[in-house]
Parts: sequence; C-alpha cells; structure tokens
Amino acid sequence: MNNELRDIAISSGMSAFGVGSIDDLRPHFEALPTEQTEGLSYGISIGVRVSDAVLKGIIVGPTRHYLHHYKMLNLLLDQTSLEIALAIQAKGYNALPIPASQIVDWKKQTAHLSHKMIALRAGMGWIGRNNLLVHPQFGSRIRIATVLTDMPLKTDTVLQRDCAGCSECLKACPVSAIGKSHEQWDKTACLEKLKYFAKVHNVGQYICGLCVKVCKP
Ligand code: SF4
Ligand code: SF4
Repeated sequence: MNNELRDIAISSGMSAFGVGSIDDLRPHFEALPTEQTEGLSYGISIGVRVSDAVLKGIIVGPTRHYLHHYKMLNLLLDQTSLEIALAIQAKGYNALPIPASQIVDWKKQTAHLSHKMIALRAGMGWIGRNNLLVHPQFGSRIRIATVLTDMPLKTDTVLQRDCAGCSECLKACPVSAIGKSHEQWDKTACLEKLKYFAKVHNVGQYICGLCVKVCKP
C-alpha cells in the first residue's frame, strides 16, 4: 500500500511522503486522547513545497500574499490527508487525518501533535537550527501534515543529517531567536515577533517566513 498512498500524495501536489513508526509518541500528543489513537502505530507524513516566488516577496516580514499562500498550502495538505485516510479506510483499516495547522492551545501555541516529530520519524528531514523541519532538498520551504493509521506500512529510515556549517537563518532572524542548535531556539522571542507581525503587517496570524525563506541546504 505504500506505493498506492504515495501516488495519491504525489498526484495531489505533494513533494514529499514518508512513513514512521510512532507508537511511543502517542502518549505525548497534545490534544488526542490515547484511546482515540490506540493501535495507530504508523505516522504518514506528507509535505508540500512553498512557492519560491511567494517567499521572494518576504523582505522584512510576512506579506498578505504569503498569508494567502500559507492558507492554500494548508488546505491542500488537509485535502490530501483526507484522500489518504479514506483510501486506507476503504481497505478496512483505521486512519486519522490530523489538521495541518490547527492550534488547540493558544497560550502554549500547540496543535494536536507535532507534525515535525512525525516527519522526523518518517525520514523526511531533520530539525534545523530554526526549530523547523529541514528537508534535504527543499530545506524549511515545505509545509507538512500527518495521517495516523493502523495499516501495517513499510517504514522509512530516519535521516542522519544536520545543518552542518550553515547559519543562514541565524542571520535572517530579526530578534536573534535562533541559536547554534534547535534546543537554543528562543520560542518566547519568536512568538513576540510573530504577534508584532500579525498586527503591524496586517496578516492576523502568527506567521513570519524569514527563516523559511533562507533555508535551502
Ligand atoms: S519565525 Fe521569524 S522570528 Fe521566529 S525564529 Fe524564524 S525568523 Fe525568527
Ligand atoms: S537555514 Fe541553515 S542553519 Fe538554518 S535551519 Fe536551514 S539549514 Fe539549518
């Protein structure tokens, strides 16, 4: 079924697809009770490329154009997750599509689960200095989503790579929130800047794009 599901993803516009074993992550999912995810031991990660041309317009912060593109990419991810989940269900297995971008706790800024951690398990990339997923080909210029399932799928190998000597995002961040490792990423400083952008750049959402734009390993 891996190939069949990958084909659905690619024909829907996805640029990346992977499967990871995630049973040990289930108790840590923010807003998904373990009863709901029982038996869903596989995480399918899908990724869609962000447009280089749209990112080019981000000079000092997010644009309304980027906001619209961001929403469209999330919609495409959600539609593709749904298609994959329905294909799995039609084969007699359970599948739970997780929204690409839905905050469940505004104070903590957390979602149902970390798509990034699933993507990591699915061999789609590594956690970069900017605390985002870095795909070996597309860098952080990719948005991701997840489908959890109990369908026994072949899992991909976790990538053994890192940012090496790159420091482009450190130079790009206007509030110096990025450090030498992702553990040093300053969530508070980043979030404060995102709040500022939401208001001053009239985007109304916590988006930035500056460290995404420069991440192309
Ligand atoms: S999203 Fe913006 S503010 Fe946050 S770390 Fe990246 S560049 Fe800095
Ligand atoms: S810009 Fe460079 S250092 Fe920053 S996350 Fe991407 S690869 Fe890593």
